[in-house]
Amino acid sequence: MRELLLAGPISAPFVFLALSLVGVGAVEVAARRSGASADGALLRRWILGIGLWALAVVLSVLIVPEPTGGPHLLARWGAVPVIVQFVVLLAATDLLQALIHRVLHRVPVLWRLHAIHHADRTYGVPTALRFHPLETLLRSFAQAGLLAVLGPDGAALMAVIVVDTCWNVFEHAGFDLPPRIERALATVFVTPGVHRVHHAAAGALHETNFATVFTLWDRVMGTYHPSVGSVVPVGLARWNSGDDLVDNLLAPWREPRDDSGN
Ligand SMILES: [Zn+2]
Repeated sequence: MRELLLAGPISAPFVFLALSLVGVGAVEVAARRSGASADGALLRRWILGIGLWALAVVLSVLIVPEPTGGPHLLARWGAVPVIVQFVVLLAATDLLQALIHRVLHRVPVLWRLHAIHHADRTYGVPTALRFHPLETLLRSFAQAGLLAVLGPDGAALMAVIVVDTCWNVFEHAGFDLPPRIERALATVFVTPGVHRVHHAAAGALHETNFATVFTLWDRVMGTYHPSVGSVVPVGLARWNSGDDLVDNLLAPWREPRDDSGN
């Protein structure tokens, strides 16, 4: 989602974002056919996610610079095949964003921005859009810096934006994959089960699985944790920013609402 902002809202990544939201969202609804979740609550979560995303798009298009300067290493190295550029840029993007994600958890003032993403007490596709616009701006500036350093081919960049955008939606899917597929996929890729661990309310699990696409980076950092299924409660016990757009925009500057009863 966040890299979409570098390409503007009317673009191939926007189309893929819409398709992935609808596709993964439809599977999610079918998987929950018991109808346990209230429709009104689901609608509020979608409205909140789309509202935050739209604000982030506007801010980023206005503020984040085009990465025209910089060493543009991939361009200078001559005839680097586009597929190689794609793999290098996707891996570098995923590592950069995983490191930023760790910093967002470590630095208290940044955690207050990131907390609204974790405050969602239902894990599902709308969670993929639930980022404070200032967090998205921070990530977009960092991504612009990476693009200035690497200077990838336009086709490689577009493919990375599409994959990263769709994978962000997929990893927040509110359903379990079949166990054998889950285990096989998680040897290389972040699955919904793996990323759900990161959203666990339990403190220790909460500090695992920071990457978006590849499990490699968390394995290297020692923060990888395999999926524990959808039985684990998600959200933040002592931080409830609700599902209202204004409340979530202002949440970093307010005292967290504590609904834990403690
Ligand atoms: Zn996080």
